[in-house]
Amino acid sequence: MEDCIFCKIIKGDIPCKKIYEDDLVYVFLDINPHTNGECLVVPKKHILDFHDASDELMIHMNNVIKDLEIKYHLAFKSDGLTIIHNSGIGQEVKHFHIHLIPRYELRDITLIAERELKTLDEVYETIEKEFF
Ligand code: AMP
Repeated sequence: MEDCIFCKIIKGDIPCKKIYEDDLVYVFLDINPHTNGECLVVPKKHILDFHDASDELMIHMNNVIKDLEIKYHLAFKSDGLTIIHNSGIGQEVKHFHIHLIPRYELRDITLIAERELKTLDEVYETIEKEFF
């Protein structure tokens, strides 16, 4: 897609620190990492988010992620990954990507709820009404 920053990176029109590539995916370091080594696993084909990803692509991305976890562990002594995919309101770049955030310490990332939350009972009441 013409005005997509990740398409431009994949084409080589914008520089990046590439760490892996195959027929289906391109992986490069996030320019604004949460921990040392955060990278983005990006399908070469321009699709918006996980809704548009084929089963084949998701399985492939999962295998790439597993392989990268081992490499991070060996090279950086990381202990696990936090895996994030933003879609909708939280997605800044509208080209499907999965963040791999290598973890080193328990508290190197924190997800903080920024407003008051409902109780679990209230949430579950809606789920019981609407989901089942
Ligand atoms: P998201 O909010 O999930 O769409 O995240 C987009 C991510 O892309 C952010 O973590 C950005 O730091 C990252 N990003 C944006 N532009 C670049 C770039 N040119 N090279 C590497 N990472 C980028």
